[in-house]
Amino acid sequence: MTAEVIVDIAHSEVDKIFEYRAIDGVFAGSRVKVPFGGRVVDGFVMRLKEGSDFDSDKLKSILSAVDEIPALNAECLALVDSIAVRYHCPKALVLRLFLPGEMRKGKVRERYKNVAVFVKEIEISPRAKAQRAALDHLRENGRADYTDFCEKFGRSAVAALVEKGAAALEKERVARTPYAALEGLAASHELTAAQKEAVRKIGASDKTVQLLHGVTGSGKTEIYLTLIANALREGRSAIFLVPEIALTPQMFKQLRARFGESAAILHSGLSAGEKFDEWWRLRTGEAKIAIGARSAVFAPVDNIGVIVMDEEHDQSYASESNPRYQTEEIARLRAEQNGCKLILGSATPSIEAYRKAQEGEYGLLELTERINKKPMPEILIADMRREVRRGNNTAFSALFREELSECLQRGEQAIVFLNRRGYAQSVICRECGYVAKCEACDVSLTYHSEEDCLKCHYCGAHYHMLSACPECGGTHLSYAGTGTQKVVGELKKLYPSARILRMDNDTTSGKEGHYKILKAFADREADILVGTQMIAKGHDFPAVTLVGILDADMSLHFSDYRSGERTFQLITQVSGRSGRAEEKGKVVLQTYDPENYILRFAVDYDYQGFYRHEISLRQATFFPPFARIVRVMVTSPDDKKALETLKEVWFSLKELYDGAPGEFLFFNKMKAPVRRIQSKFRYQVLMRLREDKLLDEIYSRALRYSSRDVLVYVEENPNNLS
Ligand code: ADP
Ligand code: ZN
Repeated sequence: MTAEVIVDIAHSEVDKIFEYRAIDGVFAGSRVKVPFGGRVVDGFVMRLKEGSDFDSDKLKSILSAVDEIPALNAECLALVDSIAVRYHCPKALVLRLFLPGEMRKGKVRERYKNVAVFVKEIEISPRAKAQRAALDHLRENGRADYTDFCEKFGRSAVAALVEKGAAALEKERVARTPYAALEGLAASHELTAAQKEAVRKIGASDKTVQLLHGVTGSGKTEIYLTLIANALREGRSAIFLVPEIALTPQMFKQLRARFGESAAILHSGLSAGEKFDEWWRLRTGEAKIAIGARSAVFAPVDNIGVIVMDEEHDQSYASESNPRYQTEEIARLRAEQNGCKLILGSATPSIEAYRKAQEGEYGLLELTERINKKPMPEILIADMRREVRRGNNTAFSALFREELSECLQRGEQAIVFLNRRGYAQSVICRECGYVAKCEACDVSLTYHSEEDCLKCHYCGAHYHMLSACPECGGTHLSYAGTGTQKVVGELKKLYPSARILRMDNDTTSGKEGHYKILKAFADREADILVGTQMIAKGHDFPAVTLVGILDADMSLHFSDYRSGERTFQLITQVSGRSGRAEEKGKVVLQTYDPENYILRFAVDYDYQGFYRHEISLRQATFFPPFARIVRVMVTSPDDKKALETLKEVWFSLKELYDGAPGEFLFFNKMKAPVRRIQSKFRYQVLMRLREDKLLDEIYSRALRYSSRDVLVYVEENPNNLS
């Protein structure tokens, strides 16, 4: 037999099939060691076949198989080509997506313990009491942990039994189980009529992708769990994707409570050993449900019965290293191959997904009420411009302080949310709410401290820094936000007896850092939780009746065409944390721009209104989904080489542009807004395409110029343009 092998070297020159003579224990999907250019390298067997395209006598032999079971199942193997073609990247890079990184480097191995097992009954002299007792024990139990066994009966007695052939020593695999300490939660609820109807419609629909749009607290999770249980009952497996690690422990807890050891978790916060073991539990079918962030879409499960993507709109589903895949695309491919449904769930679907549902490409399920018809929390707006004029320079409005005092007096909990993303960069007048925008693009300008100027990330235009507001002449211009630490300090002064927890990047280090903070808050060890984006979604804290959003509109002014969408999503998600149990919840939304339409839609929980407004804006301005933004990045530690390469890339793309200018809504080359990241100089060609016709051609023209010194890559609708 001949094996077609892809070697694990991510370079376009070796991105092709190499043939080797197969050995026993090697299958399609196996990881193998092969001789390659005088070295031994890892490789993947893509296919086994009879005969060879070459002189088979000259074929080198595979040296060994790395694992007993092929690491990739047939379905995953079949995906490799389509992903490599879609994102124009070497197959070796695609193959790596399917394995935990640590495993590839060969650093982790199975962990074993020694066990003694019963073989047969023998005669034992009556004087050897320990041997007798030990053998009786083994016969009854079949096997025993070697260390414990020796401690109990003595090492010499055990050795004698082994010597006489009555017992044998074996190695047994030990699974390192993450979150083993999680206690079980209550089991399933009887589904409400609305939930049942959603499950029924999903089952009856012939569309692969189903968008589940349900307000926060409408019971989407229960629907996911039901669909997963149904898949398991049919003997199939499931993938459950969640956006962020901060969210995972709670979801995982629910899944563990419901499905026990059938649920396996895959995420970057695990130790290498834990990840390895969980991964193999899935690969061998011992575990059936893979739960994790975006990379879990590559989980090694067979015969998938359902794939769930919770918080479908979340930015973390777009990969930010090569290949820059969209999780939804991969999930859809896998759902199609397995003939199962892909469920996209959100209280605030992305504009792209909702449009596809509107146009009939996706099935659409809407849950418009919370469980038990609980009202949505009331959102009150605090006008921060007025606060500044009144001389209030703290982070809190009078309204929020009043509500917080009452909440604490009632003995309930509050969440204080700070919007970090994009804050430090845009310029806002704290007296009138004016925000500096690009004259050509109508997106906010970004402040660049190096050059002390304002820039537009979509067209590259420069503007002078402002010293006073052009609208009102005010001089309270702000560039930098309040940090969580400062907020906690101010809260402590105002409420000396309140217990306060802080959750942000600084406080969540350590493997289970997020989990500890969330658990402490859930256990009522604190009254107020202060945090950033991490606390925005998913968490269910029944005692929380007040949510303060300190700077609601800051992401509105992020220099991104999606800033309106992001703001609407954020306010809805954060508000959804309030009043989830018996007590009614409230939200105080602090803003410098109280008339803004996005905030108005959010206050009324009017997703449809928001969608209609946003989609017509995108259509009028030619932004996605009515266009595709494509950025070709050229980066190198050597500025000159980067610039030279940029010119070559540009020249090649310009040819394309000149041949079909109508396809391009925008086309230009420039320095990237952030000139240097990790000591690499960055240049870009930025384009907006009317359609996807030229996309493949752009990839292949651009990537041709990648070299040892200069990295060239392509981004589609990137999350940020810095
Ligand atoms: P979502 O994911 O839509 O935000 P959840 O699934 O978290 O909503 O549900 C909100 C709350 O309602 C949770 O506390 C959950 O336990 C409860 N819940 C969900 N389904 C039911 C049901 N069928 N009966 C009773 N309570 C339910
Ligand atoms: Zn511009």
